[in-house]
Amino acid sequence: METPVLKTVKLKHVYSPGTPFTTTAIEDIDLEIYRGDFIAIVGHTGSGKSTLLQHLNGLLRPTEGSVYLHGEDMYASKKSMRQAAFHVGLVFQYPEYQLFEDTVRLDIAFGPKNMGLSDEEVAARVAEAAGFTGIPERYMDKSPFDLSGGQKRRVAIAGIIAMRPEVLVLDEPMAGLDPQGRQEVMENIRAYHESTGAAIVMVTHSMDDAARYAKKITVLSRGRIALSGTPEVVFSHGEELQAMGLGVPAAVELADALRRRGVPVEG
Ligand code: ADP
Ligand code: MG
Repeated sequence: METPVLKTVKLKHVYSPGTPFTTTAIEDIDLEIYRGDFIAIVGHTGSGKSTLLQHLNGLLRPTEGSVYLHGEDMYASKKSMRQAAFHVGLVFQYPEYQLFEDTVRLDIAFGPKNMGLSDEEVAARVAEAAGFTGIPERYMDKSPFDLSGGQKRRVAIAGIIAMRPEVLVLDEPMAGLDPQGRQEVMENIRAYHESTGAAIVMVTHSMDDAARYAKKITVLSRGRIALSGTPEVVFSHGEELQAMGLGVPAAVELADALRRRGVPVEG
């Protein structure tokens, strides 16, 4: 059997343990992520999506359970945690708020520079990432703060892609964008996925987007995995989804998702 790129076993995270504010954000999370996967993680606000994502690249230490990168315990040492951040790229929610360099080029270069790559390699990575995210050369020496919201978002994603992560993890990458911006960002993610084979893990609260883009869907509810599988399996649990406040995608997206998998759908 192929080793998953990432695997979580009985992952649990408790915020502020031993205080009156203690919260068990996630619990009992078993997840396997393989090369080429496209996984959507959906769930109500507060269901633990963002907490889970931050365990996938060494950012948040599990209270219990483990995360394995290529079969090795990610949290074994400071070194393995740092390495994880290069293999697993995490794009936060509203990542454009974390842009800080004077130019787009420098912002995209920040991650690869941190990896200790040569200047030539950094420049090549920056050009490649700008290509994936459709950032024209004429923007590269502008201040990121002079760009539109959608363009800033793409610069922030390019900064992660420039590290060539094997797993690209994104927390609601389309939130707050207009329909055109949403589509552009989604196409950027898809381009990276298709041409590199990198696994994508994308949090979204849109069941439509999950149906449209993902090959697998994991549903979180109150910090636990409530449902997991292909879109047709997950969406066959309509009542359970509704009970979790999620609903099923619009008919069109669902029909598309089924058709892509060779299930005949009328209309
Ligand atoms: P989601 O991304 O699905 O909205 P989160 O992972 O942000 O869910 O939150 C899961 C639970 O953990 C919620 O109850 C939330 O209030 C709590 N939580 C999230 N971040 C923190 C934090 N930094 N400190 C304390 N509690 C937190
Ligand atoms: Mg969140």
